[in-house]
Amino acid sequence: MNEIMTKDEILLAQSLIQAFSPSGAESPAAKVLCDAFAALGFDESYIDDAGNAVGIFKRGDGPHIMLNGHIDTVPLGDESIWPYHPLSGEIVGDRMWGRGACDMKSALACMAFAAKDAVEQGFQGTLSVTGVTLEEVGGLGAWHLAKEQTADVIVLGEPSKLKLMLGHRGRVEVHVKSKGAIAHAAKSELGKNALYPVAKLLAQLEHLELPSGGILKGSTLTPSFLESHPKSTNVVPGEAHLVIDYRNIPGDDDEHILERLRALAPELEFEIPNEALTSENGKVVLEGRSSRQPFLTPGENALVNLARQTIKEGLSGFGHAFEEDCWWFATDAPWLAEMPNTKGGKALVVGFGPGEEELAHTTNESVPLAHLPIARKVYCDLAMAFAKTMS
Ligand SMILES: [Zn+2]
Repeated sequence: MNEIMTKDEILLAQSLIQAFSPSGAESPAAKVLCDAFAALGFDESYIDDAGNAVGIFKRGDGPHIMLNGHIDTVPLGDESIWPYHPLSGEIVGDRMWGRGACDMKSALACMAFAAKDAVEQGFQGTLSVTGVTLEEVGGLGAWHLAKEQTADVIVLGEPSKLKLMLGHRGRVEVHVKSKGAIAHAAKSELGKNALYPVAKLLAQLEHLELPSGGILKGSTLTPSFLESHPKSTNVVPGEAHLVIDYRNIPGDDDEHILERLRALAPELEFEIPNEALTSENGKVVLEGRSSRQPFLTPGENALVNLARQTIKEGLSGFGHAFEEDCWWFATDAPWLAEMPNTKGGKALVVGFGPGEEELAHTTNESVPLAHLPIARKVYCDLAMAFAKTMS
């Protein structure tokens, strides 16, 4: 094995990949992470009521810097089409393979070692690493964590190709119901076809102007699913059900979206469904609308400038250029941004992670090994820089 393959953060990432942890059954990965916290000398390491793995270093007065990621993964998918077994963590060439390799067990492994590195370099304050549950299905773990913890800055390690990430759009699933009246298709004048009002709506949606502006560019929508009832080809449908996948920017919230759509077709019913999530141990339940909120950290901010400078310097040592962007997918950041800080406000959230986001959720999920030592160094540098500036 070459030198990079035996690095501590790579071996921990491999152990985490091997600990199968789909959403709602994360305890194997939580245990691996928690054991690593204990072995690395964290002052506290425990699994909380939501199943989150929490490791905390306390080094006197100073701000609380949190390094965060999720320990759950999407399902494995069709195992037969993976190039390597999805739970192997196999290293082939310059990449490590498996479910969670980039989304996002590698980041968590880097964070655990980065925290130890920072403490060895004299970090002052509180430095935690948190691996949360149920991110892929709504974020119960992060929601619970935001109620239990206090942090001044949170670095979220979702894959970003080592770019600084400052935001993403939300996702709102709008369900539309059309009601008609069933009749024999050969005597359609006796019924009311539920598909026609949906067709009129679809024609309007294609050209609907949506809110735009800022670095997230604008809201967009995609009609993504349509079915009629009864499921028969010779009956006038008495009901039709359309789903709209709506990606929203901050300010374009659930109520605005519903209002805009209802104005197009008052005869149709529009709703955003509710959902309930339960932690693996059954102790924590999150109920509410299924919407995932958008998130944006203002770029004109002294702490964001500090993050830019720190990441730029860290990357330059490895010959990487600094870039800044937004994620195109939803994350736990909106929940994390609700966490109180130690000064009566809210935590600042910035994103930075190893791996290519395009490979997340695919049967080609893997991570470049070279990203891991870089991420470990940058996480450590960020913790040191934030703590020094904020204390
Ligand atoms: Zn993720």
